[in-house]
Amino acid sequence: MAGNWKMYKTPAETRAFFEAFRPLVAKVEDREIVICPPFTNLEAAVGAAQGTRIRIGAQNVSWAKEGAFTGEISPGMIVAAGCTHVIIGHSERRQYFGETDETVLKRTQAALEAGLTPIVCVGERLEQREAGETEAVLRAQFKGGLAGLTPEQFAKVIIAYEPVWAIGTGKTATPEIAEEAHRAIRQEVRSHFGAQAADAVRILYGGSVKPDNTKALMSKEEIDGVLVGGASLTPDSFAAIVNY
Ligand code: PEP
Repeated sequence: MAGNWKMYKTPAETRAFFEAFRPLVAKVEDREIVICPPFTNLEAAVGAAQGTRIRIGAQNVSWAKEGAFTGEISPGMIVAAGCTHVIIGHSERRQYFGETDETVLKRTQAALEAGLTPIVCVGERLEQREAGETEAVLRAQFKGGLAGLTPEQFAKVIIAYEPVWAIGTGKTATPEIAEEAHRAIRQEVRSHFGAQAADAVRILYGGSVKPDNTKALMSKEEIDGVLVGGASLTPDSFAAIVNY
């Protein structure tokens, strides 16, 4: 159950969130919880999550270890901040910051090398869905962004299916639509990495997940978890999703 805070909250607001959120998920033992705040809040989040099962992730990562890359943050820096996860290839990065399948692969390889668990996002835009291209888009994103990993590397990756038309729009994919897309992604995994990898890989659904639609989504066998934007920003709603 992962939260993507996007570009919201200060360190003080981060600490206040955790103060309220920690007791609400204190009894959770059978699912992983990851929260991905902006870079400037990572230290506050890691501190506030200490002693809990909540893990902290970044929202992007450089493919370089260090160097003249103004504005970038390296995998090693993210690990040193106490993070365990990183979101890679979010549709907002693809849409506004030139992220491509090629850079997704480079970032994923670098994150893995540093010991981070990448949450790699894929998903089609509305016009692609309407043109009947969803599976082809997912296949191409998988081929370009993930198929270049070794089987050992791939085993450590989490995939998030996030249809772009459902992100921040209030339009959730129905559990059936999400299930169909997850099945297509799992099929790609099967053909590249084999049946065992396909069974083992965790595929999260993301796109307007809220407390009242989590249970229906999670009831689908293909859906292993959720990646939550807006509804992860308030302790009550994210706790309700985690505890669905
Ligand atoms: C996201 O940012 O990954 C996301 C799914 O956002 P939202 O839940 O707000 O649609």
